[in-house]
Amino acid sequence: MSGIFIYSERLDIASELITFAREAGKPAVLLALSADAAQSAKNLGADKVYYLKGESPLAESYALAVAQLLQKQGSELFAVGATASGRDLAARTAGYLDCAMVSDVLSVSCADGQIQTERMMYGGAVLQRETLSGLSVITVPPGKFESSPPGLAEVEVVEVSSDPRVRLVETAPIVRQGTDLSKAERVVCIGLGMEKKEDMKIALELAEVLGAELGCSRGIAEERHWLPVEQYIGISGAIVKPQLYISMGISGQVQHTVGIRDARLIVAIDLNDKAPIFKAADYGIVGDMNQVVPMLTEAIKKMG
Ligand SMILES: Cc1cc2nc3c(=O)[nH]c(=O)nc-3n(C[C@H](O)[C@H](O)[C@H](O)COP(=O)(O)OP(=O)(O)OC[C@H]3O[C@@H](n4cnc5c(N)ncnc54)[C@H](O)[C@@H]3O)c2cc1C
Repeated sequence: MSGIFIYSERLDIASELITFAREAGKPAVLLALSADAAQSAKNLGADKVYYLKGESPLAESYALAVAQLLQKQGSELFAVGATASGRDLAARTAGYLDCAMVSDVLSVSCADGQIQTERMMYGGAVLQRETLSGLSVITVPPGKFESSPPGLAEVEVVEVSSDPRVRLVETAPIVRQGTDLSKAERVVCIGLGMEKKEDMKIALELAEVLGAELGCSRGIAEERHWLPVEQYIGISGAIVKPQLYISMGISGQVQHTVGIRDARLIVAIDLNDKAPIFKAADYGIVGDMNQVVPMLTEAIKKMG
C-alpha cells in the first residue's frame, strides 16, 4: 500500500502523524517493530500496519528492511517521530534510500500533492522552507498535530532480517540532576554577567521569594559548571514555558531566547541597555544585578 509511512515507538506521536497523513489526503501506514508495538499500533486509526518481524530490539537495526519496504510499496514519504531512536532509524533509512531528509520540522503540510516543511537553521536564526519531491524522510517532534481518532487497522507481518551489528548490551535509567525546568511556573535565570559563584545567592533568594526554579545560560552550566546541564535554557538545552521568566546578566542571544519564546512574561535585568534580551522582554531593568536583584527580592517580600 502506498501513502505516508509512519514510525514512532511513541504512540502519541504515531497518532499525531496519522492525523498529518489524513490532512494531506493520503493513506496512513504505520510501521511496528515488535509484536507489542503492532498490537498497540493496530488500534490507532491507521489504514494499515506493517509489523517488521526481526530479531533486534533496536529501531535503527531495521533501517535497510524499512527502506526496502518503502520502495516496494511505493511510499511517498516516511514520517518518523523525532525521538532518539526515531532519529537513528530515519537517518539510516534515508541513507539506504539515498533520498532527502528534513529533521525536526517545525511544521509539515501537503499542498498540490507536494510535501512542504519548515525548520529552524543556524541555531534558530533562520527559518528554512523546503518542498520535497520523491520519496523523502522527515522527523517530526511531538505536538505538531492533534491525535487521530482510534480505529482498527489490518496488520501484515513481514519477516525481515534486522542488522545484527549493533547489540543492546544493557539499559540503565538516566540519573537526572537538577529540576525539570520544562514544567516550572516561574524561572529565575542567571547568565555569564554574574561574576562569582557566590553571587548565585542573590538569584537563589529571588527564586525563593517567587517560588521559582533556577535556570541559566549555557556557559554557566557547560563552561563554569555552576549548575547541572539540565538547568540551562535554549536551543540545545531546556525549552521552558513559565508564567514568569526573569533573566539576570543574560545578553539574549538567539540560541538562548529560542528556549523562552513561550514564557508568558519576560523580565530582563542587564547592565547593557543595547542587550538583545530587551527586545524579547516585556519589562527591562537596565542596571547592575547586584543592586537591582536584592531590591527586587526585598520589594516582593514586603508585598507578602
Ligand atoms: C550551536 C550553539 C548552540 C547554543 N545553545 C545555547 C543554548 O541552548 N543556551 C544558551 O544559553 N546559549 C547557547 N549558546 C550560546 C549562545 O550563543 C550565547 O553565547 C550565550 O547564550 C550567552 O550567554 P550569556 O547571555 O549568559 O552571556 P553573555 O552573552 O556574555 O552576556 C552576559 C550579559 O551580562 C550582562 N552583565 C554583565 N555584568 C552585569 C551585571 N553586573 N548586572 C547585569 N548585567 C550584567 C552583560 O551586559 C551581558 O549582556 C549556543 C551557541 C551555539 C554556537
